[in-house]
Amino acid sequence: MEIISILIIAAILVVGFAILFYLVRLCTRLSTSQTNRESEINRLTNESNSHASTITDLNQRIASLEAGNLTNPETTADLLSQWNETITEIRQEISCIPVIHIRAQWPFPNASPERIEELREIAQNNYPQYLSTNEWTHRANNMRRFVGGRCQACNSPGPLEVHHRHYLTIGHERPLDLTVLCRECHQLIHNNREIDGIRRPIQNNNGDC
Ligand SMILES: [Zn+2]
Ligand SMILES: [Zn+2]
Repeated sequence: MEIISILIIAAILVVGFAILFYLVRLCTRLSTSQTNRESEINRLTNESNSHASTITDLNQRIASLEAGNLTNPETTADLLSQWNETITEIRQEISCIPVIHIRAQWPFPNASPERIEELREIAQNNYPQYLSTNEWTHRANNMRRFVGGRCQACNSPGPLEVHHRHYLTIGHERPLDLTVLCRECHQLIHNNREIDGIRRPIQNNNGDC
């Protein structure tokens, strides 16, 4: 009888230690993968920022060249070849960027049909007011996370603006109705296209429209 109790206690102890060991290993693994992911995101963000500043610098030099006020004149050909080199470099790096999956909340919480109707009316009467509603702000922010915090055209980290591809689903937009773009890409679209026959300026502080 005594031997049986000792065996049972020993078995319980062994199983307990096994469970403890497994839990500790699981926690260590989870925290390492989280740290790796964060450092990878930081590295990519730093890289993108340095590219962005190179491009801003090139743009400024092109602008001064056009304005004719360069103290040390560079030729357009010089600037163009520097531009091409930078872009080629960026393209090569972007093609090696591993896809990082960022867990994002589904960006489209359901509003009641009455509220959707109300939102459509607000948008019709005063579009900037629609862009400042809680619903739109929430949706636009979730949309930015949903696409992994990157411009859907050029992969830049932003600042990111949420663009309506059309205005047919105002108040209950789905992901395919919207596109997340950096300011430069967004501006390109608005300079070149009318959306649903409307040439809208970019409308709220976050640049959504
Ligand atoms: Zn872009
Ligand atoms: Zn837009």
